[in-house]
Amino acid sequence: MQHDNTKSHGLLRLLTQGFLVHAEKKTASELGDRSKYIGMSDIGKGMECMRSAVASKLGLSGIPAATAVGGLAPDDVARTLERQITLQRGHWQEHGIEKALLATGVKLLPQLEICIVHSGVPIKAHLDFTLVWGGLRPAVRILELKSNARIPESLYASYEAQLYGQVGLLKSCWSEPCFSVPETELKSVTFPQAIQSVFNVALPESSNNVDIEAWVLSISLSEVRPFGPYLPDQAMLEACLQTAVAIWRTAGDMRAGNLELNALDYCQGFHPLCDWCDVNADCPKFQAVNIPTDSACGLELEELAMLKKQKTALEERIAESEKRIRQTYHLVGGQDWISTGDHRFRVVTVAGRRTLDRSLVADKLISLIGDELKTQSALEQCEKEGKPHERLYISKINKPLKSAA
Ligand code: SF4
Repeated sequence: MQHDNTKSHGLLRLLTQGFLVHAEKKTASELGDRSKYIGMSDIGKGMECMRSAVASKLGLSGIPAATAVGGLAPDDVARTLERQITLQRGHWQEHGIEKALLATGVKLLPQLEICIVHSGVPIKAHLDFTLVWGGLRPAVRILELKSNARIPESLYASYEAQLYGQVGLLKSCWSEPCFSVPETELKSVTFPQAIQSVFNVALPESSNNVDIEAWVLSISLSEVRPFGPYLPDQAMLEACLQTAVAIWRTAGDMRAGNLELNALDYCQGFHPLCDWCDVNADCPKFQAVNIPTDSACGLELEELAMLKKQKTALEERIAESEKRIRQTYHLVGGQDWISTGDHRFRVVTVAGRRTLDRSLVADKLISLIGDELKTQSALEQCEKEGKPHERLYISKINKPLKSAA
């Protein structure tokens, strides 16, 4: 079949425009003007990197306006589309998860808003899902959805900060008129008032005896993993509020021209946030020796980056294919080798890797020795440190978008 590049570019451009218009409308209707308050995701980002958090608060996002898509170069249309899919796929998943939870009959509020002013700074939390149970043992669960290409082994610190902020605000503002329920008349009410009005469920006037937890649901294309619970913690809430104040004041200083972006603190060392950061192109962290792109070294580095990208895509395809073949093997009741062409295949059960659980060993030794310090020192003496080795990091530079001309 003939592939018409001009027509396919046109289709991608149209789709990109649609994604951007939809994102602009959704943000305006659900989150309002984000430059007018500090949100929980700003706080999460600010706890990891102040430079990045302040830049996004100032709108240095690198995301073009929908009206500008017509003038973008094809590569930049592709970059913008890739970014929008990553940003918006979470909303599609959110819709499905909401339907699934509602089907259980659970009392669920989507996008509950908590709004406070702390030290003169407007702060808002938007809770993806709030689940409530009344009665003798009232309980509330906050669920925050995170869409991940692959489920992480542990949660990023920025996600955890968001959760502590949300659950801390819910508990501390419980009986204050800080809550609003979207698409209803319920604005600036207390949490029990909101729940009474929406579900006709009576909750106590104080949060003291309510079982409150927050959880993250990390969702990939085929897996969901909960992380939690996160409990209200006053010290963590205060750290979140201080970060909000710092972002707000720093952004104000920058708007007034009293501060430069590159004077702000930034996260040290290798950090996953840097790859996605819109202001990574001129970040002082990467004070780099610039090599011309068309030099031998420049070409080799570009080729290596491309090969690593292909390797990741290939590894994902291999993992999917292996999973499918294993499932099919079991479905056909496979017990023996299956052969085809030049290869044979068989699924076998391999014994799990044996490892020592350090905290379990410590507990056992403490109960045997009866002394925690001696146990810790004995364990440290038995530790072995591997030789330092070199590691090559490759980090993407998010350059400003170019026009098609
Ligand atoms: S590139 Fe990394 S260190 Fe620099 S501002 Fe962005 S997130 Fe922070």
